Amino acid sequence: MSAARGSRGRPLIRVEAVGKRYADGTRALRGIDLEVAEGEFLSVLGPSGCGKTTLLRLVAGLGEPSEGRIDWLAGARPERGIGFVFQDPTLMPWATVFDNVFLPLRLAGRGRRDAAGDVEAALAGVGLTAFATSYPRQLSGGMRMRASIARALVTRPTLLLMDEPFAALDEITRMRLDDDLLELWAAGGWTVLFVTHSVYEAVYLSTRVAVMGPRPGHVRELIDNPAPYPRGEAFRGSAEYEALRRAAMADLAA
Ligand code: ADP
Ligand code: MG
Repeated sequence: MSAARGSRGRPLIRVEAVGKRYADGTRALRGIDLEVAEGEFLSVLGPSGCGKTTLLRLVAGLGEPSEGRIDWLAGARPERGIGFVFQDPTLMPWATVFDNVFLPLRLAGRGRRDAAGDVEAALAGVGLTAFATSYPRQLSGGMRMRASIARALVTRPTLLLMDEPFAALDEITRMRLDDDLLELWAAGGWTVLFVTHSVYEAVYLSTRVAVMGPRPGHVRELIDNPAPYPRGEAFRGSAEYEALRRAAMADLAA
């Protein structure tokens, strides 16, 4: 696992010359080439409307590219292998935190008692053990987001897709969740494809940043971030962080 940090693991997904045109004629993406390697934390950074969500949905198999192809490599199995966390936590308001996290396992045919250990482990992983019997309305925004991360991780996916998951949260909560997420990632051994419009967040979190430009969405630059984990306040204040942030900002503004 730790060997994949910094130096990339074997390829998991290959996006090749992918373009997307919606039914109304909108060209959302063109010529996207991107390889996601096992174990990496790859951020897709770009302005609003540049096609980030479109790209993530195509990788998830929610929609077909108009051009090009997306291949899962090395026997990876997309149908069992993906966890998806959206910006809006979309928890079921009438169900407890436990039952919300249990949902993907229930949909896969698992019984409640049989799945309880996995649900509890997922809740423990995001620090929500004490809130298993709470309802979403009783949780803060940050805790609801943790619950949705637990729900995405409960099936132990190979790849976690995250679409601006912390964008609606205040800065302090967001930084805490960024750190929690990195901790989970380091322990879990999965791969993350993380969409954000925040340069700070992309640089802080990632082993690599794909900077996108708009109309139609394309990848402008791939920036490697070799800084070791765990990161933290020391990294946020480092010259290395500042140099990467500047580079990403320059690519965004290009
Ligand atoms: P981002 O996530 O980077 O904000 P999106 O992938 O949501 O960008 O959108 C990229 C472009 O495609 C935008 O111009 C958006 O309006 C358009 N778009 C997104 N979804 C659809 C859709 N279902 N039908 C038509 N156009 C869409
Ligand atoms: Mg989006």
